[in-house]
Amino acid sequence: MSNSTFPRKWTTEFTKTLLSAPNFIVFSYLDFLDSVFCVIYKYLDVFFEGKASPCYCTTTKISENGSNGKMGGNEEIGMSETLHGRKKKLKELIVLIQFVEKLLNKKKGVEGDYRFRNQKKAAVHRLGNRWSDCGCDSCISWMKTDDPKLHVVVKEASSQEDSKGNPNPSENVIFIHGILSSSSFWTKTLFPQLSESKKSNGYNMFAFDLLGCGKSPKPRDNLYTLNDHVEWIEKSVISRFQLNSFHLVAHSMGCIIALALAAKHSKSVKSVTLVAPPYFPSKDGVEFTVINSLTPKKLWPPEAFLSSVMTWYEHLGRCVCLLMCRNHTTWERLIKRLTGVRDLNFMFLDLTKHTHHSGWHTTHNVLYRGVKQMDRNLEILMKSKKKVHVFMGTRDRSVPPDCGDKMKKKFPDVEVNNIPNAGHRSVIFRREKDFAHDLLQIWENAAADHHDLHEV
Ligand SMILES: [Zn+2]
Ligand SMILES: [Zn+2]
Repeated sequence: MSNSTFPRKWTTEFTKTLLSAPNFIVFSYLDFLDSVFCVIYKYLDVFFEGKASPCYCTTTKISENGSNGKMGGNEEIGMSETLHGRKKKLKELIVLIQFVEKLLNKKKGVEGDYRFRNQKKAAVHRLGNRWSDCGCDSCISWMKTDDPKLHVVVKEASSQEDSKGNPNPSENVIFIHGILSSSSFWTKTLFPQLSESKKSNGYNMFAFDLLGCGKSPKPRDNLYTLNDHVEWIEKSVISRFQLNSFHLVAHSMGCIIALALAAKHSKSVKSVTLVAPPYFPSKDGVEFTVINSLTPKKLWPPEAFLSSVMTWYEHLGRCVCLLMCRNHTTWERLIKRLTGVRDLNFMFLDLTKHTHHSGWHTTHNVLYRGVKQMDRNLEILMKSKKKVHVFMGTRDRSVPPDCGDKMKKKFPDVEVNNIPNAGHRSVIFRREKDFAHDLLQIWENAAADHHDLHEV
């Protein structure tokens, strides 16, 4: 090493360390704060509901019915390693948390005792929202029905006739939105655009709110795994409307769910269109690659900081939900009054329509963990010669813009369209007309291919 490169290298290293110091200090403080809130929430949960909610701070894992217990088989259930693997530096605090937990359980008795004492209160809380979740009509109306289903918006095909006057059979399209969103993502943007084209008359379109989002059920006794989401879509859309064949269109995290659904129903699916899919080649520990890539611990910009708090800190995230989501109706009223705007943007409204439990688990179990299953599901689709189309914005800042190219490298039959200068959402929103046109073309081609396959 020459004399001149040594100091330069040393200076670069020094600057790097200096710049990472605020990061280290702030996130160490947040680690500490999260553990403090763990203890606070245990007390508050016991106070309001009679029993502490289980969390992922200690090394014991949470079983499917939501109770603490040592358990293997995480992998089969579809839970993300990131739930337990977030670094915990303050061992003393964990010991304290475990001590508090034991003390509280002793004081209040175990579950059986709790059930007798708080039967009414418990029935509501165990099924649905916690004291820290919103209890407005729109958030809890699903609890009033015996067999709750996802909130589905249907745009039916208008009856069409061919040249001989016979009715044309209609086709079905299922739309899946991304994280912290709802069916409005499609119904308020793309549906009006599609309606403008006569070609869309032959399609029944189904958009729904994912489990735990918007007006859909937000059960507390669910771990929001990829499998859970798929099953709720099956019972709320596919079985309910008896869809024997369908096209799929999905955005962002919805793409992971779309691929799982498509692979499971590979005979029924006609085409799959993925917009901004978070794709990472599957391998062991990919969950941590995804969490570090999509939501790294970063102080700047503010939205990146907020996402890192929401995904790395279970209890601090619950504080944000307690403040924002639990009181979303109050915030909406306040903002309307302050700004004088009557109709707030649906994307803003959708951000707060979930419980902490549903948002936290969906992020870890679908976004981080579900990525692991994408390769397997793509393989199934490629084998059954299904068309998969990807639309990626070259300026996407939420998922790496090369996700489409990476997918193409592994699965050459996937059709990738990189849209210049488009972002994560603007890949649809600023070009709805073009996107609607592309979709109609994809569906038409898929129908032709399907016909060819049958002829062979
Ligand atoms: Zn905790
Ligand atoms: Zn609400």
